[in-house]
Amino acid sequence: MQYIIYGVNRVTKDFLYMFDQLDILYLTDDCPAAESIWGYEVKKLEDALREHIYDKIIVCDFDKKQKIVQLQEKGLRYDLDYIYEEDFFEELDDIVIPHDRQVLIWGTGNMSRFLLSQKLGFTISGFIDLYKTKDMFMEKQVFLPEEITEWKKYYVIVAVNDAGEIIDTLSQYRLIKGEDYMSYQELLSLPSYMLRKTIFDQSYYDLECNTMLNHLEIFGKGNTRCCCTTFVAQNLDNIFDKNRDEVWHSPLHKVMGLSTVNKTFSFCDKNMCPLFVAKKAGDCRLKGQDTSAYQKITEFPETLSLGHDSSCNLSCITCREKVHFAKGKELETVNRVTDEIIRNYLPYVKFLILAGNGEVFASPAYRNIYEAGECNPQYIRLLSNGTLFTPENWKHFAEGKKAKIMLTVSVDAATEETYRRIRRGNFAALKRNMNFASELRKSGELCYFRMNFVVQKENYKEMIPFVEWGQELGVDEVFFTKILNWGTYTPEEFAEVSMMEEDGITPKPELKKVCEHPVMQSDIVDMGTIQFAHKIDEIHEVENYYMWELEKRGGKIFI
Ligand code: SF4
Ligand code: SF4
Repeated sequence: MQYIIYGVNRVTKDFLYMFDQLDILYLTDDCPAAESIWGYEVKKLEDALREHIYDKIIVCDFDKKQKIVQLQEKGLRYDLDYIYEEDFFEELDDIVIPHDRQVLIWGTGNMSRFLLSQKLGFTISGFIDLYKTKDMFMEKQVFLPEEITEWKKYYVIVAVNDAGEIIDTLSQYRLIKGEDYMSYQELLSLPSYMLRKTIFDQSYYDLECNTMLNHLEIFGKGNTRCCCTTFVAQNLDNIFDKNRDEVWHSPLHKVMGLSTVNKTFSFCDKNMCPLFVAKKAGDCRLKGQDTSAYQKITEFPETLSLGHDSSCNLSCITCREKVHFAKGKELETVNRVTDEIIRNYLPYVKFLILAGNGEVFASPAYRNIYEAGECNPQYIRLLSNGTLFTPENWKHFAEGKKAKIMLTVSVDAATEETYRRIRRGNFAALKRNMNFASELRKSGELCYFRMNFVVQKENYKEMIPFVEWGQELGVDEVFFTKILNWGTYTPEEFAEVSMMEEDGITPKPELKKVCEHPVMQSDIVDMGTIQFAHKIDEIHEVENYYMWELEKRGGKIFI
């Protein structure tokens, strides 16, 4: 089938990026501003219709009403002569809702309300509730399961978190997962849904960040993401569900990448990622047409960040109640993930980050990674709690490595008492190890050394001595972040522990006062996710966030 596209706008550009296998002859518009763009010839719609050498027209725009009127006035009909860009979206999905079925949502709670507010590309016909208390919800009928006689007339979206009982009921009716029903999490992760979110997003940020095109995080159970898990909530595919090329070159990853190259950054948390400090969204339609092509995803994930083993010799209060080392079934999974990484990911990595979870010098899984013959990256960044960063462990780790090595140590305290309370570790040992790291930095064996501090009620008074300690050690950077609740605290406890107001972005007055101290203005200080006090970097181009954040204060590291 040969197509022409009606519309020359950002939706068109996004569509061409996503569906680059389609046979598109040329683009058309009512009054084209140029004769060619993005490698395609552009013709006047009238001329294109007169020539008629295509099979179908694809209409592309944020709002297609005017274009549809134009086509219909010329006697053209939907489906026969023209279709919409959206008609292709579900080609990206592994699970497709059959078009001859009506969609029912199981559940009448907040998630159902949310789904009704979304552009899903289909209409919701009604709801199912095991414990029905009303006949109507959001102006649609509510059914008891036993009131449905012909299940195959419907497709069910389960919009309930604890869905065990519902799944049992669905299997009693002989319904099959995927074929007859899916969970709301699956629905909201479908590439077609994600694409709808970014392709019709009209926001525009004056920022180029290509991290999602070259970066992969592999964390617990083989789950993956293409940027920091604190900044981006959407997972890519699991490494056990698909092979490396399928994970990396999946439609879902392509959509995520699109959301950065089209500069909507639809899936980035603007309150967490420091690249958005002092950046406001504009409207892409008010900006001139960008004639350059979008950058593509790299062949392999070149930057790999691992956090698949939570084994650690400490038990910090923000993380866990007691020391934990993976064993039994958990260890089996960790080992399977490790094997898969070594075999299929490690050989292609240029920049390895170890480890976003657990302790790199305590976990046998991470040791297997850095000892593997396949581990030959050009750059390695160690994220450690520092208590095991001894001369012996360093010697063993660095032996035979040609990579440039960077060290980041999470400390969170400047005194023994606070360290013992927050991290429950040996402060004297940590201090010794930090002196050793400082020597390695001075001798150049480490090309970068940073100390991290998660700001919370217990330690905010030690921020100033922490910076002074960093200055004595000659670190490249001391990095402050706000405490996050990973499920360790109840909302009430967290409000007490956090030094931010309820909105999560305004500092409490005590913290603001500390941040205003002259020592906190030192060049080595970075306020990370405490955005109000973040120095505004004039950032417009970032190839990889992790490289950028290291070079910001560490100078040129990646060549
Ligand atoms: S680093 Fe880039 S991709 Fe990641 S959240 Fe920030 S802007 Fe988005
Ligand atoms: S050092 Fe890191 S992984 Fe270990 S308990 Fe503390 S926060 Fe968790």
